[in-house]
Amino acid sequence: MALSAIPSCDRLWINARLATLEPAGGLCGARLEHAIGVRDGKIAAIVPMATHSPLRAPTEGWSGEGQGVRVGSTETASDRPEIIDLAGAWITPGFVDCHTHLVYGGNRVREIEMRRRGVAYAEIARQGGGILSTVRATRALSESQLVDAALPRLHALMAEGVTTVEIKSGYGLTLEDELKMLRAARQLGSRLAVNVTTTLLAAHAVPPEYAGRADDYVTLICDEIIPAAAAEHLADAVDVFCENIAFSPAQCRRVFEAAQQHGLPVKGHMEQLSSLGGSQLAAQFKALSVDHLEHLDADGVRAIAASGTVAVLLPGATYFLRETRKPPIELLRSAGVPMAVATDLNPGTCPLASIRLMMNMASTLFGLSFEEALIGVTRAAAQAVGLADRVGTLSIGKQADFLVWDIGDPAELVCEFGVHRPRQRVFRGDIT
Ligand SMILES: [Zn+2]
Repeated sequence: MALSAIPSCDRLWINARLATLEPAGGLCGARLEHAIGVRDGKIAAIVPMATHSPLRAPTEGWSGEGQGVRVGSTETASDRPEIIDLAGAWITPGFVDCHTHLVYGGNRVREIEMRRRGVAYAEIARQGGGILSTVRATRALSESQLVDAALPRLHALMAEGVTTVEIKSGYGLTLEDELKMLRAARQLGSRLAVNVTTTLLAAHAVPPEYAGRADDYVTLICDEIIPAAAAEHLADAVDVFCENIAFSPAQCRRVFEAAQQHGLPVKGHMEQLSSLGGSQLAAQFKALSVDHLEHLDADGVRAIAASGTVAVLLPGATYFLRETRKPPIELLRSAGVPMAVATDLNPGTCPLASIRLMMNMASTLFGLSFEEALIGVTRAAAQAVGLADRVGTLSIGKQADFLVWDIGDPAELVCEFGVHRPRQRVFRGDIT
C-alpha cells in the first residue's frame, strides 16, 4: 500500500508509537509502529506502518531525520504531506488541565508564610488575608491587566504539554468583575495556542458587601450574573463551592437550577473539608464533574457513578494544605467513576503551575496507577470539561492536539518529574 492510500493529510508523523489513551487496546491504548496524519487541524489518519511499507523505508526525498521535510516542492500539501519521521518516539494526546483558577490579581505568599508559621486562618483573614485579599487584588485590575498577570502561569502549563485548560472566575464576586474575569479567560484562549474553557464560579465565596447575607448574594448570582454570562456566551459551565465556609447545598441547588435554566452544565467543589452531600446534589443535575472529594462517602460515589460525573482529583491542594485525608480512590475505581487529575492552580491553596507534578502526586499521594494518572490528564479530563468529543485521545476526527516525547515508556511521564519536555507540541495540527 502506498502513501496515496492514506487519507490526504497536511502533515504526517511516521514511525511513531502512539499512546492513544483510547479505552480499547493495551496499556494507554498503545499502538506501536504507527503513523498519524492531520488535516485542517484534525486527526485524519492513524495507520500501522506495516501496511504502508513505503513509509517504513522512505525514498531519498524523505530525508531529514526527525525533522519535517516537505516532499516535492510543486505538489499541494494534500497531495504530499509534510513527513516527520519520529524513529520510534512516543505521541500522547495534549494534556487537559480541567480545573484552574489561573486568572487572578496579586499573590498570597506572605500569608502562606504566616500559615506555615502556624498563624490561624481567622487571624490571617482579620489582617486582610485569605480569599478576599485575592478578590480585592482582582477587582483592582482591568481585563488586560488580568490577562498579563495570567500569562506566565498559562505559559508554564503550555510548556509542559497542556493544550486545553479550564479557567474559573470566582475572585470578582460582582456582576462586572465576574464577567471581566471570564472575558480575560476568553482573551487568553484567542491569543494563545491553547483551548480555553471557562467556568463561572461566582459562588466561590460570599463577598464582603454581602457579609451575613449569603442568600441575597445567591439571588444576585441566579438573577443577574448567570443570565449575563449566558447571554454573552462567556461561560461554558457553572461551578459552586459547597462547604461550611462557603455555600450550603440548598444555596448550591439554586445556582444549579439557574444554570440549568440557561442551558449551562454544572460542576462543583465538593466534599473538600467536610461531607455535605454536595456530590449527590451535583449528580441530580448530571454535573460534568465533582472536584476535591477528600470527604466523599460511599453514597456520594454511588450517586456520581450513576450520573456519569467525573471525579476530579486535586492532589496539589492536598499537598499544599498539608492535608492527610485522601479521596476514596478505591471506591471510585471499583465503581468505575472516571478520575481526572488537575492542578487547581490558584494563589492561596495551590500556586503550582505544573500538570506534570500533579500527575506524579496523583500517583505518589493518591495511589493512582501510572496509566490512571495519564488518563486523568487526557481522556477523563476532557470529559470533565465537556469536550470528550473533541480532545483527550488520539482518535480520527478529534482536534489534532498532541505531544511528541523522547521516552521509552509513557509511564516515565508520571513516574519522573522535571526530566522530560515535549519534543514537539502540536496544537490543531500546527507545531507550536
Ligand atoms: Zn478549585
